[in-house]
Order: sequence, then C-alpha cells, then structure tokens
Amino acid sequence: MSAACIFCKIIKGDIPSFKIFESDKTFAFLDIGPLSKGHSLIIPKHHGAKLHDIPDDQLAEVLSVTKRIAVAQGLENYNILQNNGRIAHQVVDHVHFHLIPKPNETEGLGVGWPTK
Ligand code: 5GP
Repeated sequence: MSAACIFCKIIKGDIPSFKIFESDKTFAFLDIGPLSKGHSLIIPKHHGAKLHDIPDDQLAEVLSVTKRIAVAQGLENYNILQNNGRIAHQVVDHVHFHLIPKPNETEGLGVGWPTK
C-alpha cells in the first residue's frame, strides 16, 4: 500500500468506487471516466507503478479476473489496455488493466488508440 496512491485509497475504501470484484489479491471497479459503458479497471492489491513491479501470481489473477468480468458482461468485442509510463499515457501510478467494451464503431477506444 502507498499512502499517496489513489488506487490504494480506493482499495481501502477511503475513496468511493463502484466495486465489481474483490479478492485478497485483486480489486476491480468502474472507471470514473469511461470510454464506453462498463469500462472497468482491474488492479492488483500489491502497490506497484509498472507491470514489472508486480509479482507473477498477482498478475495472473488480475488477468483471470479481467477475463471473468468480460464473460460476466457478455462482451463479444472489447479492448484490454495497460499503460506503463507517462509517454505511454499512464496517469495513475498503480498498475491497472482497462477492460473497455467496444459495443459499436463509435464507443470505446478509437482508431488511433490508445487515446488516454
Ligand atoms: P491510465 O491513463 O493511468 O492508464 O488510466 C487511469 C484511469 O483511472 C483513467 O481511465 C481514469 O479515468 C481512472 N481514474 C482516475 N482516478 C479515478 C478515481 O478516483 N476513480 C475511478 N473509478 N477511476 C479513476
């Protein structure tokens, strides 16, 4: 946990979120600025800024939970996005996987993605 990290605060419940899933290793919630309806963020509870900072077992569960949410949402078309570093459009320095439904041509990530 990092005291200054907004996603650690969301995990603790100090910042409210619309929670989708929680286990001892993983937390998932709706993105506050969705690119499409149901855009969610799936994060390891272990605090780390970039993918290579996260233990393999935590990453494995995050990806498994991402898949389970996609299945539960009945998604046929979707993007999974994970940004590392400012140049690569990372804003929040706690590893997170975006699960972005793509219900049609205009919602979700655009042609020139990543757009965030
Ligand atoms: P990044 O660009 O770092 O990959 O994406 C960070 C994401 O976190 C953005 O899509 C942004 O909307 C989301 N986000 C930032 N602050 C909050 C927050 O306080 N609550 C929620 N639910 N999402 C947030």
